[in-house]
Amino acid sequence: MHPEMEKTYDHARVESALYKKWEQNGYFHARPNTGKPPYTIVIPPPNITGKLHMGHAIDETLQDVLIRYKRMSGFETLWMPGTDHASIATEVKIVEQMAREGITKKDIGREAFLERAWKWREEYGSTIVKQLRYLGSSCDWVRERFTMDEGCSRAVTKVFVSLYEKGLIYRGDRIINWCPDCKTALSDAEVEYEEQNSHLWHVRYDAPDKSYSITVATTRPETMLGDTAVAVHPDDERYKAIVGKTVVIPAVGREIPIVADEYCEMEFGTGAVKITPAHDPNDFEVAQRQNLPVMRVFTDDGYINELGGRFVGMERFECRKAIVKELEESGALVKVEPYAHNVGTCYRCHTTIEPIVSKQWFVDMKPLAEPAIKAVKDGSVKFVPDRFEKTYFNWMDNIRDWCISRQLWWGHRIPAYYCDECGETIVSETAPTVCPKCGGTVHQDEDVLDTWFSSGMWPFSTLGYPDDTDELKYFYPTSTLVTGYDIIFFWVARMIVFGYEVMHERPFETVFVHGIMRDSQGRKMSKSLGNGIDPLEVIEKHGADSLRFSLLAGNSAGNDMRFYWEKVEAARNFCNKIYNAARFVLMGADEDAGELPEPGKLEIADRWILHRLNEIIGEVTKNLDGYELGLASQKIYDFIWSEYCDWYIEIAKSRLYGDNKDEKKAVTAVLIHVLKTSMQLLHPFMPFITEEIYTKLCDDETIMLSDWPKQNDAFAFDADCARMTLLMDLTRSIRNLRAEMKVPPAQRISARLVVSPDDAAAFETMAGYLGKLAGADNVTVSTETGEIPKSDVHIVCDGIEAVIPLASLVDPEKEKARIEKEIDRVKADIARANGKLNNAGFVSKAPANVVEEEKNKLASAEEMLGKLQERLDALD
Ligand SMILES: [Zn+2]
Ligand SMILES: [Zn+2]
Repeated sequence: MHPEMEKTYDHARVESALYKKWEQNGYFHARPNTGKPPYTIVIPPPNITGKLHMGHAIDETLQDVLIRYKRMSGFETLWMPGTDHASIATEVKIVEQMAREGITKKDIGREAFLERAWKWREEYGSTIVKQLRYLGSSCDWVRERFTMDEGCSRAVTKVFVSLYEKGLIYRGDRIINWCPDCKTALSDAEVEYEEQNSHLWHVRYDAPDKSYSITVATTRPETMLGDTAVAVHPDDERYKAIVGKTVVIPAVGREIPIVADEYCEMEFGTGAVKITPAHDPNDFEVAQRQNLPVMRVFTDDGYINELGGRFVGMERFECRKAIVKELEESGALVKVEPYAHNVGTCYRCHTTIEPIVSKQWFVDMKPLAEPAIKAVKDGSVKFVPDRFEKTYFNWMDNIRDWCISRQLWWGHRIPAYYCDECGETIVSETAPTVCPKCGGTVHQDEDVLDTWFSSGMWPFSTLGYPDDTDELKYFYPTSTLVTGYDIIFFWVARMIVFGYEVMHERPFETVFVHGIMRDSQGRKMSKSLGNGIDPLEVIEKHGADSLRFSLLAGNSAGNDMRFYWEKVEAARNFCNKIYNAARFVLMGADEDAGELPEPGKLEIADRWILHRLNEIIGEVTKNLDGYELGLASQKIYDFIWSEYCDWYIEIAKSRLYGDNKDEKKAVTAVLIHVLKTSMQLLHPFMPFITEEIYTKLCDDETIMLSDWPKQNDAFAFDADCARMTLLMDLTRSIRNLRAEMKVPPAQRISARLVVSPDDAAAFETMAGYLGKLAGADNVTVSTETGEIPKSDVHIVCDGIEAVIPLASLVDPEKEKARIEKEIDRVKADIARANGKLNNAGFVSKAPANVVEEEKNKLASAEEMLGKLQERLDALD
């Protein structure tokens, strides 16, 4: 033991020193083939543009709790860290930085731009990684990876080529989501829908000779520029006569055919729809069936292109206004309705997405999704809580082809090459020098891959794939994936897909889903609201332990949380409570106290606290195995705060500072054993203070590598535990009595306990406990209530009574009033129990032990009532 402890706990000093020690001593490092079972978590790689926010804090804390728990439980635990290159986010930052210098991407060219991007990454990319350390994260930093490092890049190329060779990756003209601000294609998952108030414009398209007309409705009049048909349902009697004829697009003047296609719904509006194949995914399909031309009218930055006639060069929403104005003036606008609908926006910049037909690379997801759906259905991959399986199936069952090409430079460049002579496409892991078909020169595809293409491989690319490494064999499949529910589509689904496709095995067993952190009013934390809380500020003020503990308190899987400073302060108070308790124990400890004495040599209070510890070990372990981290942290908190500090230490005080050397040794051993074990149970939640105290309590180098506490049958529940509970009940009653009667705290009282003959001997030995607990000296024990002098107070608890002479302090009238109040309380209990037992439904439906328990309650309440009544009569 190293009993010297500073007077107060200095989290800043302790936390940074301990983290350094852990990292330097290699405690976080995992090795393959140690003979232990592996337990692996891959970190959701934070973006290199990232700064630590509360979302990371909660994510990392949950992972670290699991990792530390498993490490102590005998697993070879690998927490694989790393960062994500974040194609769009990073490129946007660099372009902004260049803009401040007055230069553009085009000015400097691809090579110079990438050089700059790598420099940017060197400079800023590790900020987040440094910040994760302040939280106490026990990542295996030696293994840190990056989605664009050499190995991860090889994995990406290999998988791309293999999917291409299987026909599961293809290049084609399809409607994609285009962000005119980021100037790149986006996948469906990258589009966020927001409800916007807009209008539905009903527009009349006339026949060239005005002999007939057809009215269609649109929310995007500017797309009229790209209309190539009007469609109606083949069975729609209203239009049968004019199918095959033409109409003129108003304000545009171009003639287009009327086609019949089953896509139209007769019941919806007029039953006719305009077809803009280049700017709507459904219209694109109609066009393919009907052989209609595809006419793209927007430029990449959201302006009208050269096909837009008089509207060329107009910004798309300006063009909308201009067209509506012309429709109004020409009388083609039939009506305008207010219309609220969901508009797709870019997840990075929130610009309205333009569906645009474009030549892009796609992954054919349907066949790839099949094993991934099956895996969750048959339980190979489990979601906690399981309601997120629904979210997953919803997405996977309706999966569409995944657009993976991005018109950016920062990222994995697509390994496709095109022949300048014959146009041949070559997809290959190594760049060809000439065209294999004609010998012509080749050039590589300009685009890079969607960031999520590489992060989808994270569970195996970080373990060494495509090489067959020991790590890959030993740590894959990984165990638990911890993530927020907001990236189930982006990331979780794709990892499951790639896991089965590439490794032919699930990437992880369990997906542990958590909610997002909101402010104290329940609002999302955001830059625009300015309501974000910086985790580093919290750590600086109150320590990482307090932050972590506050994030876990009340946390349940999948649910959003709210941030309250009060919660952090409560956690800090808990740290102080633990620290003071440890300091007290160590200062009074007997230097020669060794191992825990045999149960037979322990006092009742000792066996009781050891029994309670035993129960807490079982419960906390069970909660952790069930991903109930909030519950586990609450239980260990209550145990340390209340049972250990407020009860057991109080009881132990007189023995610790008494003259009996043996007692002092025994109680020291128990105090230290319970504290040490509690520190182990608390360690995953509060790694720093527990290490600080644990290493003072014993000679271990670190708590991190100590064995997770196990239950001990020697401390199962017994009659003495029940007696201790009685004594605690009685203590509470005496404390209430003292408060009610305004007995000054320093005023000592005496007491006669009345217990059953079976309990008498035990209470003789416990009589002394009431000294510290209730300010009671000269406590005697009897088995009969007997005569009670008028001037005494009579306390009746369930299973124990106490007679307390308070002659000089008690007013008989007040005592009568107090007893009457007690009688009312007990009568209410009796009425409640009778109500239940007279209810046939309860008696027939409730389990037998519950009914039995209710009967026992009634019997003991009736007994208490008799005693109280007797006492009241005696006072008259
Ligand atoms: Zn954007
Ligand atoms: Zn060629």
